[in-house]
Amino acid sequence: MSSIHIAQGWNFNNSYTLLPEPLFAPTLPTTVAAPTTVLLNQRLAKDLGLDLAQTTPEEWAGFFSGNTLPPGAMPIAQAYAGHQFGGFNMLGDGRAILLGEQITPNGQRFDIQLKGAGPSVYSRRGDGRATLSAVLREYLMSEAMYHLGIPTTGSLAATLTGEQVRRETMQPGAVLTRVAASHIRVGTFEYIARFESKEVLETFVDYTIQRHYPSLADRENKALALLGAVLARQVHLITHWMRVGFIHGVMNTDNMSIAGETIDYGPCAFMNRYHSATAFSAIDVQRRYAYANQPPIAQWNLARLAGALLPLMDADTDKAIALAQPVIDSFPVLYHIAWLQMMRQKLGWAGEQAEDADLITALLDWMEGQNADYTNTFLLLQAQLAYADEPPVIAQWMETYGLIGSAGSREQPYDETVFKKWLLQWRQRVGAQGQTDAAALQIMQSVNPAFIPRNHQVEAALAAATQQQDYTLFNQLLTVLSNPYQPQEGNEVYQMPPVDDEQGYQTFCNT
Ligand code: AMP
Ligand code: MG
Repeated sequence: MSSIHIAQGWNFNNSYTLLPEPLFAPTLPTTVAAPTTVLLNQRLAKDLGLDLAQTTPEEWAGFFSGNTLPPGAMPIAQAYAGHQFGGFNMLGDGRAILLGEQITPNGQRFDIQLKGAGPSVYSRRGDGRATLSAVLREYLMSEAMYHLGIPTTGSLAATLTGEQVRRETMQPGAVLTRVAASHIRVGTFEYIARFESKEVLETFVDYTIQRHYPSLADRENKALALLGAVLARQVHLITHWMRVGFIHGVMNTDNMSIAGETIDYGPCAFMNRYHSATAFSAIDVQRRYAYANQPPIAQWNLARLAGALLPLMDADTDKAIALAQPVIDSFPVLYHIAWLQMMRQKLGWAGEQAEDADLITALLDWMEGQNADYTNTFLLLQAQLAYADEPPVIAQWMETYGLIGSAGSREQPYDETVFKKWLLQWRQRVGAQGQTDAAALQIMQSVNPAFIPRNHQVEAALAAATQQQDYTLFNQLLTVLSNPYQPQEGNEVYQMPPVDDEQGYQTFCNT
C-alpha cells in the first residue's frame, strides 16, 4: 500500500473471502463512463477512519463507482436465497459487490459494498445497476433512521455513473456505497441449508457468532443460541420501526439482517395518518408487509431461520423442532413487552399500570378512526404538558404544525369528545406514581420524533435532484432529518402532514 493510501485510511480485512467458496463469487465491478460523487457522508467516513481530505473528488468517485479498487479490497458477490412474499427463491448479490471489510480506528468491522456496480453470476436477467432515484432514496432514508437512533445500514456515498439505465423509462444510473455491520441475511442461512452441506452450515454459524454474537461462542447448542439472539435483536428493531411509523415495505427473508440492522431500503416509507393496514409498496397488493403486519412477519421470517438451523440443533428433527419452537413462540410475548414499554415512553408514563395497554389501544383506535397524523398526535400530547396553563399557546402550536386551521384541508379531529375524554385519562396517568410533567416531557421528547421523512417532502427532494440536478431541497431535508427530536425554528413546514389524504401514495422497488 502506498503512503497516500495509508493516509486515506483504507484498512481492509476480508474475513468473508475465507469462507467456503460456494458462499460467494469473486466479482469485479463493471467500470462506468463518467463517475461523479454527488453525496459524501462525512460523519460516516470519519467513523470508518477514512480521511476524505487526503484525495481528490475524482479519486473518491473512482473508488465509489467501482472504477478503481481501494487497496486491500477483494470484491465478491455474496450468495443467498430468500422467501419473497412467501415463496422461496435463489437470489444473491445481483447488483451489489462487496469491496471488503473495513476495520475502523476503534477496531469495529464494517462491510463496504457498492450497490449498483454491475452484474454478477447472481444477476439473472437484471442489469446489475441502480437508478439515481433509488440510490438517493436509500441515502436519505438510512440517514433519517440513523438520526432517529434506529439500527440501520449506512450510506457513505452516492455516485452518478454517467450512464443511463433502462427501467420503464431511461434514468440516470448511480452507485450507492453502503456500509453494514455485515450483509448476512436470514436468506444466507436458507441458501446454505438448502444447497450446501451441514459442515458449511456449521462453519457459517460459527462465523456469524464470532462476528455478531461473540458471547455465544461457548454455548452448547450454538444454532439454538444464535436463533434466540437474532430474535431478540429483531424484537428491538421492529419496536423502533413501530415507534416512528416506519414501513419497510419488502420484509422478504433476504432483506432481514442477522445483525439486526434495517437493510435494503426499497419501497419503504413513513406513515402519516395512523392506519394499521398502511402499505405503500405498489407490488404489495396483499398488504403482507403493512405497518401492523411487521411484527408477525418478523416472526415468520425468524421461523424460516429456525428451519434452516434445525439440522444443527439436533440430529433428530423432532427434537430440534421441540427446541426451536418455544424460541419462535416467544416472539409475540417479547414483542408485546417491548412495544408496551415503548408506547409508555411515547405517552410519558412512568412505571407500569394495569390499564396501560387498554389506554394505548384506545388512542390508536381513535387515531385510526379519525385519520389522525401519527407523529403529530404525540407532539400534541407533548404540547399539552409543555403549555398546560396556556391553552391559547396550544391552539397556536396546533395551527403552526397543521393540526388545526387552514393548513390542512381535512377536518381536524382533536376537538372530538372521545379524544377529550381520553386526554383526561392520559393526563391522570402521566401524573401517576408521582411523576412531574417536566420528567414526562423529557422522556416523550426523546422518543417522539418531530421530524420524519414525510413522503411528499421526500418526493419533492428526489424530483428536484433527479430531474433538475438541483440538490438544494435534498440537502435541506437531510439537514432537517439529522436532528429529528429537537424543535427547529423556521422548519415547521417539514412537520406538516401532506394536504391531500395520500390514499394513492405508492412506492416502488425501482431497482
Ligand atoms: P431486493 O429488491 O434488493 O431485495 O433484491 C432482490 C433480488 O433481486 C436480489 O437478489 C438482487 O440482487 C436482485 N436484483 C434487484 N435488482 C437487480 C438488478 N438491477 N440487476 C440484477 N439483480 C437485481
Ligand atoms: Mg434484498
